[in-house]
Amino acid sequence: MEPVDRSTIWPYDERGEPRNFYYSRYAHPTGAAAERALGELEGGEALLYASGMAAVTSVVLAFASPGTTIAVAEGAYFGTTVLLRDLERWGLRIVEFDQTHEPPDDADVVWVEAPANPLLTLPNWDAVRGHAGLKVCDATVATPVHLRALDEGADVVLHSATKYLTGHHDALLGATVARDADKLERLEWVRGHAGTQASPDAAYALLRGLETLEARVRRQTETATELARRLAGHPRVTRVRYPGFSGLVSFDVDGDPRAVETATRVIVNATSLGAVRSTMESRHRWEGDRIPRGLLRLSVGLEDADELWADLEQALGGAQQGDRG
Ligand code: PLP
Repeated sequence: MEPVDRSTIWPYDERGEPRNFYYSRYAHPTGAAAERALGELEGGEALLYASGMAAVTSVVLAFASPGTTIAVAEGAYFGTTVLLRDLERWGLRIVEFDQTHEPPDDADVVWVEAPANPLLTLPNWDAVRGHAGLKVCDATVATPVHLRALDEGADVVLHSATKYLTGHHDALLGATVARDADKLERLEWVRGHAGTQASPDAAYALLRGLETLEARVRRQTETATELARRLAGHPRVTRVRYPGFSGLVSFDVDGDPRAVETATRVIVNATSLGAVRSTMESRHRWEGDRIPRGLLRLSVGLEDADELWADLEQALGGAQQGDRG
């Protein structure tokens, strides 16, 4: 395995010229190894950042200027929309659009999420592909196991690698993947100068996480598919959203979702998603009325499906007869 190299500097060569690595804000060996591994999976060249939001910030700094219109998918990750809205102070124009339909014609940047967290809609790829603007796809929830967004027509794929890619709730990390040399150069320049580079330890967590990514995501998808089916038959559940892949399920309950999320014993009541331990939280208190009041976002981990179902059933307030799958 690639060792973790925490150096911030490497000596210049004997002629006094920088080698491949000379200051870790620009690049470091552990990061470069992890970028090669992720780039191979996505079919492009990857860059790592200090967090998913550092990747979002770097993409905006790299490609937007005052007057740029960014069309972002409605119901995309709340933090992305909140940051983009704040950047309106710098002269950006932000419009939200239904990503299952055409993006607005006048957008300079089209920002989709596959699938959107937590409403789990998917982009209309035919419409995205045909758009003239820069196409950015946040593929955090799909992962390259289920989607290679560059092949679908995205120019830049973005990940919160904090989630599935590292997969254990112990690393904060972001990534972009692109093919076009000018875009890559621009992103790398911004990362180096804005200081949004990832730490070597987080990059190592990515190298480790990618070793098991496919096995984890396939099992999470299998378990989530079964739990989505059982949830749909539960009398307290009014709606289940599940796109048919990934470990993320969101469902609405009538009544107080906080009473459900605090009653689980196996599923951890915490934010974030995509790790080996299942987590669940209601999203309305964070996101307000853009999200149904009763929505719970469940991130399915690697625990046994029946054990997770028993936990959900008891938290939802009692077993329903005949739906033990
Ligand atoms: N994109 C998506 C889809 C996310 O779910 C998140 C975090 O929840 C982010 C981006 C931001 O990533 P990070 O928390 O690593 O900054």
